[in-house]
Amino acid sequence: MQRDRRAGGVSGSKVEIGSLERKRINDVLHKQHDKSSPVISRVLNGKAKEYLNVPSASSGKQSGRFVAAVSNNKCSDEEPETVCEESDVSGSDIDETSWISWFCSLKGNEFFCEVDDEYIQDDFNLCGLSSQVPYYDYALDLILDVETSHGDMFTEEQNELVESAAEMLYGLIHARYILTNKGMAAMLDKYKNYDFGRCPRVYCCGQPCLPVGQSDISRSSAVKIYCPKCEDVYYPRSRHQGNIDGAYFGTTFPHLFLMTYPHLKPHKASQRYTPRVFGFKLHKP
Ligand SMILES: [Zn+2]
Repeated sequence: MQRDRRAGGVSGSKVEIGSLERKRINDVLHKQHDKSSPVISRVLNGKAKEYLNVPSASSGKQSGRFVAAVSNNKCSDEEPETVCEESDVSGSDIDETSWISWFCSLKGNEFFCEVDDEYIQDDFNLCGLSSQVPYYDYALDLILDVETSHGDMFTEEQNELVESAAEMLYGLIHARYILTNKGMAAMLDKYKNYDFGRCPRVYCCGQPCLPVGQSDISRSSAVKIYCPKCEDVYYPRSRHQGNIDGAYFGTTFPHLFLMTYPHLKPHKASQRYTPRVFGFKLHKP
């Protein structure tokens, strides 16, 4: 079951935490405590986060879900906040999917494998990331589904920033994880399932591709797919996938992958397209 947490999916907000946002986070953090309504805060806390946008969203998917939540709880004539509180108490519509499973199941996130909790819990593997990701501790708690009380003091906007930070943190952890044996095995399953798409080049005959970044520094460029047959890179087929940061996969992954599983490396593409005019090859100047 998927959490309809945000109508627009995740990729839209992914690469947006710049220095401006960092400043905003700090500003808001210092101002904020007295503003948040207790009911909203409670709804925003923990497992009920799928209702994050409900009070403010007025159209689309969120709205549909909201209506469903209302009718489930049989209090459609009450205020939205009250309804949310009701559903928070009953818990009837809340699933137990981990944040990681939920995140990987989002549209456009098909390239991500699920990183082991154990890997994330080992501080050694996260070395250096705390300085790159704002809201680091909160983001980490969110990824690991650690129940905290920080939702009580955060506004909706802050919660969204934490979620963006969690996506970024997960991406950066993911880039490291897929270079480990376990991570590579998880990516192998996805490769066999054609999750990364196939090479669009005709003479590659549907060769499955692997995700690659053109840089290891986040926010440099979006993810591409690498074809092991023609040894070239292409844009992913889906626009949603094309919005994902290439640094969440890194420049090394596909090549280390093919060194680890050499039997998967196809013969180099030998056939080339020949342009012809009325059947004659073109003269090259
Ligand atoms: Zn190719």
